Parts: sequence; C-alpha cells; structure tokens
Amino acid sequence: MSLQIRNLTKIYGQQRAVNNISFEVAQGEIVGFLGPNGAGKSTTMKIATCFLPPTDGHVLVGGFDVVEEPMQAKRITGYLPEHNPLYLDMYVHEYLSFIGKLYGLSGTTLRHQVSEMVERCGLTREQNKKIEALSKGYRQRVGLAQALIHNPKVLILDEPTSGLDPNQLVEIRKLIKEISLDKTVIFSTHIMQEVQALCDRVVVINRGEIVADDTVEHLLQKQ
Ligand code: ADP
Ligand code: ADP
Repeated sequence: MSLQIRNLTKIYGQQRAVNNISFEVAQGEIVGFLGPNGAGKSTTMKIATCFLPPTDGHVLVGGFDVVEEPMQAKRITGYLPEHNPLYLDMYVHEYLSFIGKLYGLSGTTLRHQVSEMVERCGLTREQNKKIEALSKGYRQRVGLAQALIHNPKVLILDEPTSGLDPNQLVEIRKLIKEISLDKTVIFSTHIMQEVQALCDRVVVINRGEIVADDTVEHLLQKQ
C-alpha cells in the first residue's frame, strides 16, 4: 500500500501553505518528511488523513482517494497527530478501547487489539495507569498504540519524537522502527538526525514546496 501525493495545494485564506507538491511513499518504505516549522508538513498530513480538505490536487492512500473514498482510506491509515489529544483522565487500556471503538472494533477483536498494542508498544506496566500519570515518552507510546489499534497498513506520524528527552528519544525511535517493519510510513520532523536514524529516503519541504526528494546519503553529500 503506497501513499501518493499528487499536485497537492492547500490555501488558508491568503496563505498558500502547500503549493503543488507531489511525492510518493512506496509500499514498505519509511520516509522522513523534513522541514522547518511552518513549512507545510502538518497541513499535508492532515489532508492525507482526511482531517482537512485539499484546495487542489489529490492524495491516494493504498489507491483510495482521501476526498472521494475517505472511509476506505481511513480504515488503512494510522495517524499520530503532532498534538495528540490524549484524554488524561482515562486509563491507558480504556483510552485504547475508546479509539478502537471509533474504528468500529468491538468484543474479542477489540480486547485482542488493545492487549496486542499494549504489549507491542511496551505499555504492559502502564496499562492500568491514568494517562495523566505517564511521562512524555510513555504518552507518546500511547499515541503510537492508538495509531496502530486497527492494524493500519500506512502510518502517518507527525513529529513523533518532538519534545522528548534523550533517553525517551532513543526508546521511541526504536519503537517506531519496530512498528514500521511491515508498513508504509511517513514521519515529519524538523531535525535531520531523526531522518538519519530512522530511514533511507527523505522528502524536504520548505515554504510549501518540495525542495529535495532523495536518499539521506545523497542529500548529506550535497550539503
Ligand atoms: P508545519 O507542520 O511544517 O510546521 P503547517 O502545515 O502547520 O507547517 O503550517 C504551514 C503554514 O500554514 C504555516 O504558515 C501556518 O501558520 C499556516 N497554517 C496552518 N494551519 C492554518 C490554519 N488553520 N489557518 C491559517 N493558516 C494556517
Ligand atoms: P498542529 O500542530 O496540529 O497543526 P497547531 O498547534 O500548529 O496544530 O495549531 C492549532 C490549530 O491552529 C490548528 O487547527 C491549526 O490548523 C491552526 N493554525 C495553525 N497556524 C495557524 C495560523 N497561522 N492561522 C490560523 N490558524 C492556524
């Protein structure tokens, strides 16, 4: 399942946040989406996850157009927003069940998915704690677990490592690598080292335009 961005444009009022960008993340690839704050990364990702309508152009997730076939596209997409609205008063397992229900899971399937993601994301000891009691690193694990709850094929992660301390950073990077193995993944960041640590290819965006789309190795040689 690939992610295809085709001539995508988003204009907010007078602001051209994304200007006719095109790129593709192939089946099984993990690609970094690198750019400074305000470059248009979140806007692109919100469109790819059906949270925001494009002004022009198309996004296809696993071949499904996010405007024309949003239900099919959403079913195969996992999303970790930059500011994931965690319900702090909920217990970890309760929150993951809640998100699973939003994706239409129920009964034994729901229980199985929750315990599977708890285990996969290293939350076994935290599952009976309230989210408010967790550190930033563990909250981010919960964020990744909710993105995975419906077994998506495509993962869209918006700044998944921002604001973490160095130890948490290493742990979360490791986890992202593990969960990415059988998926098509794009993650945004404003830090080149993040891209180097996690992937081979990078798409660089600046002021709403793609300024590079290359292997990390090539891009570093050019600098
Ligand atoms: P990034 O994720 O790379 O930091 P964003 O996609 O959040 O960039 O923002 C791209 C540009 O669009 C920025 O100039 C931002 O201020 C602007 N922008 C984002 N959301 C809105 C909005 N809802 N209304 C108006 N401008 C917006
Ligand atoms: P995110 O990181 O998820 O894009 P932000 O914290 O950047 O969220 O923005 C919060 C809200 O404000 C979002 O709905 C975003 O689209 C909107 N927003 C961001 N930049 C602008 C802007 N320059 N003008 C108006 N709204 C904006």
